[in-house]
Amino acid sequence: MAINVTRSSLPAFEEYIEEIRPIFESHMLTNMGPVYKKFQRMLIEYLDVPFLSLFVNGHMALELAIQAMNLKKDHGEVITTPFTFVSTTHAIVRNGLNPVFCDIKPEDYTIDPAKIEPLINDNTVAILPVHVYGNVCDIEAIEQIAKKHNLKVIYDGAHAFAEKYKGKGIGNYGDATMFSFHATKVFNSIEGGAIAFRDEKLRKPLHELKNFGIHSAEIVDSIGGNAKLDEFRAAMGICNLRRVDECMMKRKEVYDRYNERLRGVPGIRFCENNADATYNYAYYPLVFEPKVFGRTRDDIYTELLAHDVHTRKYFYPAINELAVYRNVYNSTNTPIAHDISLNILTLPIYEELSLADVDMICDVITGKA
Ligand SMILES: *Cc1c(COP(=O)(O)O)cnc(C)c1O
Repeated sequence: MAINVTRSSLPAFEEYIEEIRPIFESHMLTNMGPVYKKFQRMLIEYLDVPFLSLFVNGHMALELAIQAMNLKKDHGEVITTPFTFVSTTHAIVRNGLNPVFCDIKPEDYTIDPAKIEPLINDNTVAILPVHVYGNVCDIEAIEQIAKKHNLKVIYDGAHAFAEKYKGKGIGNYGDATMFSFHATKVFNSIEGGAIAFRDEKLRKPLHELKNFGIHSAEIVDSIGGNAKLDEFRAAMGICNLRRVDECMMKRKEVYDRYNERLRGVPGIRFCENNADATYNYAYYPLVFEPKVFGRTRDDIYTELLAHDVHTRKYFYPAINELAVYRNVYNSTNTPIAHDISLNILTLPIYEELSLADVDMICDVITGKA
């Protein structure tokens, strides 16, 4: 059977049926009903955040969070990373703002705070870092810079569900943090997402932007779209939230086995996670140094494919090298992101992945299979 890079977590079938039974009784399928509200309450507690707004997916959550902050000005610039999923950059551009790409740290692939300040000018309105693969950014350095220059900080925390930094939920940092509950993430509600935020003033614009600008039955006071999470997805989220801790523990077993088998192999570099943060075991990225390792990232990708193991070249190409952006932005300004994108491979990691399969994958990588 094919081994994919991930496999969506599902609750027991009967558990989901029980959770959606009240929806069949009430006929209330969406519009922020009781299941939505219950899911929201559970998440605020689990993520240990002051405020949280649910969305139909992580991308719309991020896009509308930027809109809710009213950062718009002519030629407004947002400093961000080119080493991420394309959603991060699209969310900036679709708001009429200009992304300015800052290079990453070679140790953990997150934005390099030492390279942020030279990119700040009168047009800069925000910093949008990504906790890429769940590796927590250099939060304190980023926030010091933001404070000094009076900039907003919005984290793309799509990969950082459940993580804590210095004992506090990761969604407590910056002005806002986006979480994605997409089927392929550590925690899913099929599709879904949320914005955690600190300033209660964001509550109204976030609510209205996802619901046509409707303030109350007869008052529409802003120009919103539609990005509501429905009751069935909220029910899936509730079921999966009950077992997310167990799911992360199983992922940890896979993660530890990869470490046991691959750490110390010459020519393979590993991601160094933030020592002040917990980790959710979302991804297992490796960086190959072909001159030392003897084979390239693409060689390993192809060899694993021959064993029906489907790894992913996340994140290749870098965002400033994608067809849609490469003629607009110059990727020579971000050489580390370019280099990492050419040599990185993310290995399969999910709850039910057996340690025998992990061993088989490691044998292929180390040339024993
Ligand atoms: C998945 C992802 C998103 C988008 O989230 P969706 O819920 O799929 O819309 C944004 N940024 C990053 C880094 C992601 O991995």
